[in-house]
Amino acid sequence: MTDEQIIENIIKDANVLKAIKTVPRHEFVPKKYIKSAYEDGPLPIGHGQTISQPFIVAFMTDHLELNSTHKVLEIGTGSGYQTAILSILSKHVYSIEIIDALLKESSQRLKKLGYNNISVESGDGYKGLEKEAPFDRIIITAAPEEVPDKLLAQLNIGGIMVVPIGKQFEVQHLWVIKKDIDGSLSKEKVLPVGFVPMVKKNN
Ligand code: SAH
Repeated sequence: MTDEQIIENIIKDANVLKAIKTVPRHEFVPKKYIKSAYEDGPLPIGHGQTISQPFIVAFMTDHLELNSTHKVLEIGTGSGYQTAILSILSKHVYSIEIIDALLKESSQRLKKLGYNNISVESGDGYKGLEKEAPFDRIIITAAPEEVPDKLLAQLNIGGIMVVPIGKQFEVQHLWVIKKDIDGSLSKEKVLPVGFVPMVKKNN
């Protein structure tokens, strides 16, 4: 099977597949990696960070069960690639990035490509974005060691969070967390993954 067939067999939401095909990934990778932009692997984007593998982006997005009414919070803008995919499938995306140089680049890139339902914010993802909470969906694209409490609190009733949990260089797992109507949480471990760590600021 080709990489594309693997993605198509596992991803349930046809709109996710369409979004993956629509977003020009070569615009999100450094020039020297343009030839590899459509291979199914992560690539360096500078500052020790990576643009996620397309399969993982599709898999995480699929588990968010997005629709066009959803207000989404993303932690870890990075290149902005995942942000662009989310923006096609939701009403508005708020994306927080801790490295200002990456944020500046991705913000300009997303504007240039015409994605206009995205707000990028500089800051520490562990705090979330209180002023815009609650969010119908939350996706974290760096791995914390535990689910950040403040982010759980900012998840709306009926909301879904997709988050890789674990230590760097150890096996991490992708978790899907759902907040029920009564506020109770259900958690499901869905895939072993390898993400860059979600860094903690010393303040
Ligand atoms: N979704 C991105 C993947 C970026 S890698 C893409 O498709 O390109 C993870 C990103 O999370 C990095 O850019 C890293 O700087 C950022 N990050 C790590 N810890 C963070 C934190 N505490 N708050 C916000 N962003 C963080």
